[in-house]
Amino acid sequence: MELKGKKVLVVGLGKSGLAAALFLRRRGAQVTVSDVRSAEALAKDIPALLEEGIMVEAGGHGLLTFRRQDLIVVSPGVPLETPELAQVRAFGLPVIGELELASRFLKGKVLAITGSNGKTTTTALAGAILEQAGFRTLVGGNIGVPVISLIDESADETWSVLEVSSFQLETTEKFHPDIAVILNITPDHLDRHGSFENYALAKERIFAAQDHDDHVVLNADNVRAAAAAARSVAKVHWFSLEHPVREGAWAEDGFIRFRLSRDLPAETVMPISGIPLKGEHNVENALAAACAARLAGASPEAIRSAIEKFHAVEHRLEFVATINGVEFYNDSKATNVDATARALAAFPSGVHLILGGKDKNSDYTVLSGLLRARARAIYTIGSAAAKIESHLRGVVSIHSCETLEKAVNAAAAAAHPGEVVLLAPACSSFDQFENYEHRGRVFKELVEEWRGWKVWQNA
Ligand code: ADP
Repeated sequence: MELKGKKVLVVGLGKSGLAAALFLRRRGAQVTVSDVRSAEALAKDIPALLEEGIMVEAGGHGLLTFRRQDLIVVSPGVPLETPELAQVRAFGLPVIGELELASRFLKGKVLAITGSNGKTTTTALAGAILEQAGFRTLVGGNIGVPVISLIDESADETWSVLEVSSFQLETTEKFHPDIAVILNITPDHLDRHGSFENYALAKERIFAAQDHDDHVVLNADNVRAAAAAARSVAKVHWFSLEHPVREGAWAEDGFIRFRLSRDLPAETVMPISGIPLKGEHNVENALAAACAARLAGASPEAIRSAIEKFHAVEHRLEFVATINGVEFYNDSKATNVDATARALAAFPSGVHLILGGKDKNSDYTVLSGLLRARARAIYTIGSAAAKIESHLRGVVSIHSCETLEKAVNAAAAAAHPGEVVLLAPACSSFDQFENYEHRGRVFKELVEEWRGWKVWQNA
């Protein structure tokens, strides 16, 4: 892809937009950045961009700015339905994402992981395994390191392990991972993708440009992810928590087992008790990571040793503290209903669950069964509270708390020794927080304040 002298517009100045703009400029393109946020909001990045000779359009998009380009690179946070984007796409102007742009320049092999839930954990796990196995490994994508910033370090022998979201996949064309993993497809982001099927189709784009020599790893226990097999031309391997698979990884009698192909004997990779993460969903993540890593050539020993040493990624069912016998867990990254269901399922009973934030057009009634079985009460926060309460009235006792602070204090005061206070809000955070990380950090601070209060009370 020749960039020299090309007019390129980067839409959306997030982390990956910034990395893309600087990369394009270094390769000789004439770069403009356009963002709807005001110049004040973008103030910290503007000087560096101007210094590099990159033009900045802040406070809105100009249709003319869009029309004047040879190529548009759109950030995952910007909907493709944005009117200016929709117009230039209709004119046939190429619109790609940072992932597509980066993948055209990235050297070496790629293991890409998508799914509704578990992407970050599985990407981190797979990266740790490949590293342990002695491969030169780079980890990036949605996990927080733009793929573009891996290009310089990549070489023919590297493995890039990439977390890719449905938004990034919406704007891929030739993105072509050697191994593609779909962990699961459950409802999420319906506010942006319109329908469940559109969202599922975006996920399937992970293997759209693969060929017969490539591999795809699919979840045999998830109906929609498994159905994707019919549309893939790559070699399919499966993972399953529930039953042995012909080719792939599965859980059996307390062990992770793997078989590369039907005619080979199954091998034992490691005991499930050696996975240091809570919840069955993390066994699924370990199965997917082990399967993909084995396909990449990692040994069972490397898989076992990397998984045994692994620590939960922050905000993913992260243990925070035990205070007077009550355990506190931070699962701020549970931003959809399925993730919350999996977090609840990790505890047999006695859960005081903090739910709410910004609704994503979700159906909270699907939590009813698990709530009845495992929860003592729910504590609602944020703008989704009224909807959650109407969906769950009569299922479990409900405390309307509005803020996270009130919710933590109410839940902590009500919980008995042996019970759990869990933040797994099933919503995004943008109504009250900058992002889920901010929400998780505030939760942990509030738990520490609670500890201080208890110490003072007991003194
Ligand atoms: P993602 O990057 O896809 O959001 P994470 O690893 O950050 O995935 O986990 C997000 C949330 O989803 C976690 O808070 C956890 O509760 C839940 N989760 C993790 N793995 C799975 C899985 N395999 N299936 C369902 N839920 C999961």
